[in-house]
Amino acid sequence: MATSATIGNLQVTALVDLTPPPRDVSAIYPDVPADDWGPYQDFALENGMWQTQFCAFLIKAVNGDGPIVLVDTAMGPGEEPGKLLEELAASGVDPDDISAVVTTHPHGDHVGWNVSYDGDSPRATFPNARYMLARADWDYWTSDEIAANVPAIGKSVQPLAGLGVLHLVDGEEEVAPGVKTLPANGHTPGHQVVVVESNGETGVIVGDLFHNVAQVTETEWCPMFDWNQDMARASRRDILGRAASGGWTVFAGHLKIGANIGKVSGSGDRFTWQSV
Ligand SMILES: [Zn+2]
Repeated sequence: MATSATIGNLQVTALVDLTPPPRDVSAIYPDVPADDWGPYQDFALENGMWQTQFCAFLIKAVNGDGPIVLVDTAMGPGEEPGKLLEELAASGVDPDDISAVVTTHPHGDHVGWNVSYDGDSPRATFPNARYMLARADWDYWTSDEIAANVPAIGKSVQPLAGLGVLHLVDGEEEVAPGVKTLPANGHTPGHQVVVVESNGETGVIVGDLFHNVAQVTETEWCPMFDWNQDMARASRRDILGRAASGGWTVFAGHLKIGANIGKVSGSGDRFTWQSV
């Protein structure tokens, strides 16, 4: 299932790879008392549980011309194979057509389809793309002690260097006309979001800036996945603040499909989400 919105001449489409089983919300947000979920129960949780999904975002021109960009590659083939490549095909896009893959951060649910394997031999699933990963994340995640404990790094990230498709990003960088990276560190050391600008309109694909819609309002709340909570909060407030004041459209991969594209209002450390 896909949902999309246009930003000027560019179309941004959420492609759902996999919907995992719901999880106990107190396990994901161990520092948030159960009662504090009260006001958010109905629209942020599903039967009291944390329900997320694993998504990638496709950016292409409405008229079909120009470079095609994929932001993240979701969970990938596995015990329960993801559907990203089928979703891509349904959108009329061949893996060969992708000119850039931006990785918001290299957690397993964002890099799963980066590399495909013929036996033990890796190949780039998107052979004509440069894979854009923040240098700070590359340096952190490929250190011996981290890589040894995170299988997704050896399987889906480190091979990119040998395949000649890895492009390390420092700060803001243009991905394609109207598409650029923007650092939003904290969830991981190099976590980055993707800003899309066309014809006076702006959108932002936020990666894992928040994992539940309640965090748009309660920006203090951090899931257990955030690497540096203070930094994650500061980035969350910074990007949401810019989105609110600029009227940006926000694309959030971990929110429920159908409610994962929205606008935000507010300022400071509290915002309100409105799905579009
Ligand atoms: Zn994630």
